[in-house]
Amino acid sequence: MSSTYLELRWLTVLGYGQWCPSVVSAGTDMRGTIWRDGGRGMSGAALCDCCGASIAREDGFLLPTVAIVASVAFWETQFTLAKKVVDLAGLDERQQSSWLSSSLRVHAGSRTPWLICDDCVAFFVTDYGEARSCARRGVDPPKLGAVDPSKCALFAAIAWESVMGRWPAIVMQPEVGNHCDFCGRRIYRGEVASRFPRETVQLFRAAGALDGDPLSLERKGEDGWMTCMKCTTSMGTKMLRAEGRL
Ligand SMILES: [Zn+2]
Ligand SMILES: [Zn+2]
Repeated sequence: MSSTYLELRWLTVLGYGQWCPSVVSAGTDMRGTIWRDGGRGMSGAALCDCCGASIAREDGFLLPTVAIVASVAFWETQFTLAKKVVDLAGLDERQQSSWLSSSLRVHAGSRTPWLICDDCVAFFVTDYGEARSCARRGVDPPKLGAVDPSKCALFAAIAWESVMGRWPAIVMQPEVGNHCDFCGRRIYRGEVASRFPRETVQLFRAAGALDGDPLSLERKGEDGWMTCMKCTTSMGTKMLRAEGRL
């Protein structure tokens, strides 16, 4: 059985498949992140391609680039690491834009699988059972290949805003369409979000899978609570673990 958490019995996914037509300008080339080896480096232990933690390859998950670059939480991890360098080097806004643009192209352009650890897998929408099986067997995950950077610029820009404190100039800023009822974060138009019906919240609460109670009462005239993708994947993977399926 597929272990993708995006199951209709749990929630309604809103805006899925809508990409932001943002423009990504050209910038200087970047060599890629230090630990990025997709679990294909030397034999023995490998490193998580998201956080850099040391893991055994067969204990990880293998994901295609399309799953990685659509995750705001992934970009937040990268930019939190990068912010120290940006601050230390005193990069001005133009240099930061150039760096962001390169980062987008390098990550989206990756054709190899990404090895992801048990903690970081909660950042991503994927078929977890299949991703685990690919890591165990050492085979490529489906949908492997590069992604058009303009199709993931929105997710990187949202993370940039949350880490750097401002929206990046090279990405068109969409209107705010909504907000997450669990973490309070704004949800932009074109962003992927979900709705947790009341039964889902009750089910997750009983399983100890909620990150916390919703910040507000159930929305009037709507079924349940609006949830950003970061909260959805965080709580969805906790639920799968509670069910013994992850
Ligand atoms: Zn990790
Ligand atoms: Zn949220």
